[in-house]
Amino acid sequence: MNIEHTRPPHGGHGEPGITVLLRRMHDVVAEEGSAQERLDRLTKAIASHVVADVCSIYLRRPDDDLELYATEGLNRAAVHKTRLKWGEGLVGLVADSHRPLVTSDAPHHPAFSYRPETGEDPLHSFLGVPLIRSGKALGVLVIQNTAARQYTDEEVGAVQAVATLLAEIAASGELLSQEETAAVGEMLHRPERLKGFPIVAGVARGKAVFLQPPAPKHKVFATDLSVEAARLEEGLSALRVSVDEMLAKNASLSGVPREVLETYRLFAYDRGWKDRLRMAVFSGLTAESAVEQVKNENRARLLHARDPYLRERLHDLDDLSHRLLRVLSGETTTDKRTLSEETILVAREMGPAELLEYDRETLKGLVLGEVSATSHVAIVARALDIPMVTGVGDAIDRCEEGDTLIVDGDAGEIHIRPTSGIIEAYQAKREFQTELQAAFVKERDLPAVTKDGVKISIMMNAGLALDMPHLHETGAEGVGLFRTELQFLIGSQLPSVALQEAFYREVLDLADGKPVIFRTADIGGDKTAAYMDRGAEMNPAMGWRGLRIAVDRPGMIRPQLRALLAAAAGRTLWIMFPMVTIADELDHARGLLDREIERAKRRGGALPEEIKIGAMIETPAAAWRADKIAEKVDFLSIGGNDLAQFYFAADRDSEHVQQRYDPMNAGFLSFLKECVARAGKTGAPVAYCGEQAADPVMAATLLGLGVAQISLPATSIGPFRRMTRSLNAGEVAAWLDENMPRRAESLREDFAAFLKNSGVNLE
Ligand code: PEP
Ligand code: MG
Repeated sequence: MNIEHTRPPHGGHGEPGITVLLRRMHDVVAEEGSAQERLDRLTKAIASHVVADVCSIYLRRPDDDLELYATEGLNRAAVHKTRLKWGEGLVGLVADSHRPLVTSDAPHHPAFSYRPETGEDPLHSFLGVPLIRSGKALGVLVIQNTAARQYTDEEVGAVQAVATLLAEIAASGELLSQEETAAVGEMLHRPERLKGFPIVAGVARGKAVFLQPPAPKHKVFATDLSVEAARLEEGLSALRVSVDEMLAKNASLSGVPREVLETYRLFAYDRGWKDRLRMAVFSGLTAESAVEQVKNENRARLLHARDPYLRERLHDLDDLSHRLLRVLSGETTTDKRTLSEETILVAREMGPAELLEYDRETLKGLVLGEVSATSHVAIVARALDIPMVTGVGDAIDRCEEGDTLIVDGDAGEIHIRPTSGIIEAYQAKREFQTELQAAFVKERDLPAVTKDGVKISIMMNAGLALDMPHLHETGAEGVGLFRTELQFLIGSQLPSVALQEAFYREVLDLADGKPVIFRTADIGGDKTAAYMDRGAEMNPAMGWRGLRIAVDRPGMIRPQLRALLAAAAGRTLWIMFPMVTIADELDHARGLLDREIERAKRRGGALPEEIKIGAMIETPAAAWRADKIAEKVDFLSIGGNDLAQFYFAADRDSEHVQQRYDPMNAGFLSFLKECVARAGKTGAPVAYCGEQAADPVMAATLLGLGVAQISLPATSIGPFRRMTRSLNAGEVAAWLDENMPRRAESLREDFAAFLKNSGVNLE
């Protein structure tokens, strides 16, 4: 046992501050002596500063074992002898979890691993902090005391600061031997793959650049309030000018991305924001501090909002605040931020306008922390065709600026410092995709007919004007689902009839005579507009949404129907109602449409030549009564995303439960077959527009179940056409009929094998 004395608990009064310790650490590292001597001195300095009986440094070996490298207080003979496996003991747990661990009764902690050679028997209190560098644990700093005591938050904070510095020193080569530093470097620069979510498709490679939140240093308290008020005023004016200029520069953007920017401009001119900034200045702050304060208030208010729309507002406001801070710091340029080479931008969050500040030629990909596919920045990135992955929040910690990154927007993953093998594989993938895409374009006019002569109608899913050119590239017969609500989710108020009409007309013009099925706004669920006060719902997906809102509050659907009727004047108008549950709701919606038709007639407005009405089958209730629903409409479309959500009672937005239930489940497939058969009895055409059809195995199943029209994302159309032409629908139907009734689980594997054996093209 080598514990010399037990010191009283650290009171935190009168001791030199943490800065003194950090400076002392720097001095120790600079002193003469061997690496071991300096490490020993470091542990001594830290132990004395935090009044600990023991201070030890464990470092990670290339084999991931944690080795005791230095100690003050433990038996020195254990140095370089005591080793713990990754995850073993309290030290291993700290390294593995990347989190500090505090306990006043270490020997009774379930993870405790006793090492007699260290002489740690009488030590009760334990504080372990990981040495983190570039998101990786390089080792663990341990503080121990004999007395059973609680370390204060202040002490934990001080030890964390020390650990940060230690990690930096360990990686810098100033402390360890050359060989050891090389091992640390190797550990830090290992290639990594992080799994997130695919948001914008495509593959990109470039050097990592972090989006730096511009936070120049500034004074907090104003010396002259009127001067600060004037600075704020000038700053806001300059900010508005720069936002206006940015809009002008991006004048070529139209449709939804344009509206995103217009909304952003509204914020820049928002009176409420300005008033709160002014109030903060008059409370005694500098203009910069006022911006920070109001920004933090907004964050506190909006950060925990469940509503994705509100969270999106937060990004806009943060983005604007950063710009205003830059303006106040005297930065005048509004030019595009230049990137010297092909770049992947990495950020925890980002606003749409910030994205537009970068040069499109060099900005190749985006890695963001937490944004959804319908966020503003995602909409703009899609419009600019920049592959994007999200949900890899720690990417920013795990890579360094200048590291090579690959963004795989198809698989939803990123590769940090990829090996040459991975780079080649991605290069090949990119070339293959380009070739494949070119081949699909060539095949776009080939008839979508199965080998046994069943004609399949291929339609495309869309939601933006920007999607429309794909209609021609893919050879789709029309748009089988146009999600109109995207427009409603973006603005800060209900889009006017005129705005909607112009937009629908633009879409119809772009379709150039091909049918476009406009789905009336399916607001609600996860798609909430800020101007709609729906009250909090426990289960919004099953709450007041889609047609339910439309029949209760016709104030929203009637202007939309009015705009659709006017936009399609002289052409065929296809309208589809979402979230139908019972047939009555359709009567109601039809009644609203009739009233709008009457209104247009009364006013002498031009009307569509023909109107086709459809219903989406998205609830089990509607599927079970598909025949009754079909009697009331011209066509049906199965919304498999929602239908599967309700069939399995599994939230479609939860990655977790989505993994559990495969739509290829035999039960779900027989349910679909029953629904198609019931609707088919009435002679009404039945389409399928759920995204599951993007999966070729599922799409082949749908053809076997008798679905003759499929609407799917543009990128999936080429593969789908190929698959259709290589498949015998009769044989597929027979296989399903034989297997569906007698199986309880997913048919995926067996069915895919059957398709392959039958020579079906599933590329
Ligand atoms: C569906 O639910 O399958 C569907 C197509 O509609 P959305 O995905 O827009 O809810
Ligand atoms: Mg739906």
